[in-house]
Amino acid sequence: MPTYARADLAFEKGEGPYLYAQDGRRFLDFGSGVAVNCLGHAHPHLVEAITEQAKKVWHTSNLYRVPGQEKLAQRFVEHTFADTVFFCNSGAEANEAGLKMLRRYQYVNGHSEKNRILVASNAFHGRTIGTLTAGASDKYREGFGPMPEGFDRVAFGNLNELRNAITEKTAGILVEPIQGEGGIMPAPEGYLEGLRKAADEYGLLVMFDEVQTGIGRTGKLFAYEWSNMLPDIISSAKGLGGGFPVGALLANEKAAAALTPGMHGSTFGGNPLAMAAANAVLDEVLKPGFFDNVLAMSKLIRDGLAKISAKHPGFIDEVRGTGLLLGMKMVPNNGDVVVKLRDQNLLTVPAGDNVVRLLPPLNITKTQVDEALAAIEAVAAAFTS
Ligand SMILES: *Cc1c(COP(=O)(O)O)cnc(C)c1O
Repeated sequence: MPTYARADLAFEKGEGPYLYAQDGRRFLDFGSGVAVNCLGHAHPHLVEAITEQAKKVWHTSNLYRVPGQEKLAQRFVEHTFADTVFFCNSGAEANEAGLKMLRRYQYVNGHSEKNRILVASNAFHGRTIGTLTAGASDKYREGFGPMPEGFDRVAFGNLNELRNAITEKTAGILVEPIQGEGGIMPAPEGYLEGLRKAADEYGLLVMFDEVQTGIGRTGKLFAYEWSNMLPDIISSAKGLGGGFPVGALLANEKAAAALTPGMHGSTFGGNPLAMAAANAVLDEVLKPGFFDNVLAMSKLIRDGLAKISAKHPGFIDEVRGTGLLLGMKMVPNNGDVVVKLRDQNLLTVPAGDNVVRLLPPLNITKTQVDEALAAIEAVAAAFTS
């Protein structure tokens, strides 16, 4: 179907941070399939885990216990605020489950009138009808109405506006701790803590969409760890399976108590093959020193971009983000820059606010960072000469 404006490029093989096109060209992948391939391509441990599981059992449904789910959930419980985890197949689905939980929590606690959810300007939460409504883009909603009721939008980062928008009908708050598709917009200092405080005052749940920010992308397992607060619910997907489609909703006991047996479900969600992939990803991401590499490579990229910026003014306006969730706000059109970078065999991803995202695999090395910086410098020189 004509739903994508695809580049005329097809890859037949990947190895670490490199992708090989059918025509033999080799690309350095600083897009990671939109923040998905967190260990690069064909990572041996991931390949082995999936291959071994494929020989045993792929799918059994959630009518039975799935040991891989129990193992993965236990790891999240150990390493995050969460007490319990639900598994699904994508980011939008994880967010849908979270939206249901935000409302149902109030309902089971005797507040069925509290069913409205505060969402942010510039937000992206997925392409289902519900998550499109939670997201900010009018363009993505156009022609798909009527949209569901019960969402109130506030300016991302503005605590006063958030407080003023809370009414006796508010159930909870959904935000991305760093907005991804919106152009790598970090929450301002103190915003997440203030949001938590307001939620506690009014008995609201706080949900973070960590579909893009999670699984080590920012140099912590989840981005909320950079703040001094805990959310009640977070959604995860993208990097979770390292390229295998899988999503998860993590919640504390209080929030999760709202979803009793039969209240939510997924046929494929958390099947043994997906769990083998996600557990293999966590084997690597939770290794001592893994996050140190994310932060060290982040610094190398930022330092390199600062030098390029100084040498070629009029190309990069600003660099934003944390860890390897980086955005270059461009002076020239971001789409044109992505194409020129691709001509230099470097893959990147555009985002809102004229941003080019740099989302390399989290295990990249200095050599590859230098290679990417050289490509960016060549394009900067071409644009500014
Ligand atoms: C990608 C993304 C989604 C949607 O995930 P899908 O797997 O495409 O449904 C939702 N929220 C955020 C923040 C994302 O980056």
